[in-house]
Amino acid sequence: MDLAPVFAEALDILVRYLRIDTSNPPGNEKPAARFLGSLLESEGIECEYIETQPEREILVARLRGDGSKRPIMLCNHTDVVPVEAQYWDMPAFEGVVRDGRVYGRGAIDMKGCGVMQLMAFLLLHRNRVPLTRDVIFCAVPDEEAGSTWGMKWLSEHRPDICDVEFELSEGGGGADRFGGEDVRLFNVATNEKSICWLQLTAVGTPATAAASTTTTPSCTSCAPCCASRSGTAASPSPPIPRRTSTAWPRPGSSPRAPTCPPSKPRSAAAANCRPRS
Ligand SMILES: [Zn+2]
Repeated sequence: MDLAPVFAEALDILVRYLRIDTSNPPGNEKPAARFLGSLLESEGIECEYIETQPEREILVARLRGDGSKRPIMLCNHTDVVPVEAQYWDMPAFEGVVRDGRVYGRGAIDMKGCGVMQLMAFLLLHRNRVPLTRDVIFCAVPDEEAGSTWGMKWLSEHRPDICDVEFELSEGGGGADRFGGEDVRLFNVATNEKSICWLQLTAVGTPATAAASTTTTPSCTSCAPCCASRSGTAASPSPPIPRRTSTAWPRPGSSPRAPTCPPSKPRSAAAANCRPRS
């Protein structure tokens, strides 16, 4: 398949999509749902628009499979977080293309991904690809503010749409450089905006993070590890967090050597930290 025209079409769609201001709050994602829906409808694909609030709609379209397998959903959100224009070098809602890059609020999160899903959906349809499972295109509002009027609403009111075997959405990505090294990295996100409980052990001088001490408090030793686990690059001099959990060891456990030796470089120290299972 010649992908050059597909890239050109995707870029054209993305630029026009970025021009629709769906800052949430208030969202007003209806024009975005209608824009994406009009592209599907122009090729004969039936669309359902589900209003969850005034000017807020969910778009759902479906390609039928032979029913031998349960559906897969391509899910994206149409809202974006608000813009503080004073920090922008260019307009946030014009879809600027410059030096091979696309600029605009939502280009990454996640209108760009939404257009990828749309193009995949359209190509399946155009090429009459035989499907063993239904493929559902779903564009939801209100993801950036809790999903009350988006996916949460849909899962509570329309389980017929959400009853899928797989759902693909944002969160994953690929990179060939990470931590200053050449890598082949593709991260897979299986969840979002939920709590990841970790229990870390650091033995050192007990201290609250709000009070400085002459020695390195144990909680500071944990900082690089926490940064590593959260996907944040550990800084050479990590700031002391305003709040921290109580340092272990728990009652009954024996003291151990610090899991993040201060003498090691921060990056190495972070790598050596092991969350307790
Ligand atoms: Zn997002």
